[in-house]
Amino acid sequence: MINFEYARANDVADAVRQIAADPTSKFIAGGTNLLDLMKEDVERPARLIDITRLPLSDVEETPDGGVRIGALVPNSDLAWHPLIAQRYPMLASAILAGASAQLRNMASTGGNLMQRTRCFYFYDTVTPCNKRQPGSGCSAIAGINRINAILGTSDTCIATHPSDMCVALAVLEAKVHVAGPGGERVIPFADFHRLPGDAPQRDTNLDANELITAVELPADGFAKNYTYLKIRDRLSYAFALVSVAVGLEMDGNTIRRARFALGGVAHKPWRDEAAEAGLNGKVANPEIFERAAGLVLRDAKGFEHNAFKIELARRTIVRALIQAAHGTPQSQNNKKIA
Ligand SMILES: Cc1cc2nc3c(=O)[nH]c(=O)nc-3n(C[C@H](O)[C@H](O)[C@H](O)COP(=O)(O)OP(=O)(O)OC[C@H]3O[C@@H](n4cnc5c(N)ncnc54)[C@H](O)[C@@H]3O)c2cc1C
Ligand code: SF4
Repeated sequence: MINFEYARANDVADAVRQIAADPTSKFIAGGTNLLDLMKEDVERPARLIDITRLPLSDVEETPDGGVRIGALVPNSDLAWHPLIAQRYPMLASAILAGASAQLRNMASTGGNLMQRTRCFYFYDTVTPCNKRQPGSGCSAIAGINRINAILGTSDTCIATHPSDMCVALAVLEAKVHVAGPGGERVIPFADFHRLPGDAPQRDTNLDANELITAVELPADGFAKNYTYLKIRDRLSYAFALVSVAVGLEMDGNTIRRARFALGGVAHKPWRDEAAEAGLNGKVANPEIFERAAGLVLRDAKGFEHNAFKIELARRTIVRALIQAAHGTPQSQNNKKIA
């Protein structure tokens, strides 16, 4: 691990000022991803700007019936917050499907959005990796790519975004509030994370001198017909091979409005509006869910070790849609241990 300077930000403006003054610095929140990357020599910030004392830890209702989540709200507090547990249970389920209780206690909302890929070669500093070192090549394309992407890949990178929480935020169409030297702006969730294209070193459209201040949820949380289904190698403490978040608005057996997103399959949470639109106005049944899955996966491309993900994703989409249409009972994950 390299030597680095440490500074604390006093307020949001100070945090932005400090990062703008030194582009080699990095914000640190829970530290659960950044410190690992520093220990592995993947990230080498000359300076850490500690943002943990900033007043960004509230979960509050907005005037239009939505909820604003401060960037420093820990993942555990968010999942168990009454507003989230009752009105956005899909989001609570997704958060609780991630990491471990200890990690969720430390991990922040903003840090979860910004966590980096788990591609093996990104962590292995002796192998080429375009994300870690632009222009050096991609070791995963012809290497061990079992956990890599099947959708939206490019010739330069086939990494996935590993977050569970972000898959639910994509379905909810959250907004990301950010502050930078030019003032504040709002990024729709669909535009926050990027596909790798020819610049895989950039995971998001957040500028290097911007701070996430909050994530805003709209009023509609799909609290009756939802699911978050995560398929992984172990039942806990493992990243998704494939995950699916679903929110349905039902009228009896008929789907009035459908949204769903996939995790573990692309460089960003993956939504397909054509597949969603094909479900609207239809009576819920496995055949239309199969059709929707086929649409989502029409351009999926497997590599030597991850082609199984295409069939896994198809089955996971169908099962998740069936569960959501039935009205998902509260999962084990959402039950607090007495
Ligand atoms: C063993 C292990 C298992 C895990 N399993 C899962 C899992 O199954 N599912 C899952 O979703 N996640 C999982 N995680 C990842 C975990 O959720 C993330 O590490 C965590 O959410 C990151 O939050 P943090 O506050 O600790 O971020 P930090 O490590 O502090 O920061 C991460 C990055 O975000 C940037 N950052 C932080 N806050 C802001 C902000 N407000 N504005 C701009 N930039 C910011 C930092 O500069 C840094 O680049 C796992 C992690 C570990 C170590
Ligand atoms: S898939 Fe992306 S992160 Fe993995 S080795 Fe290739 S360039 Fe690096």
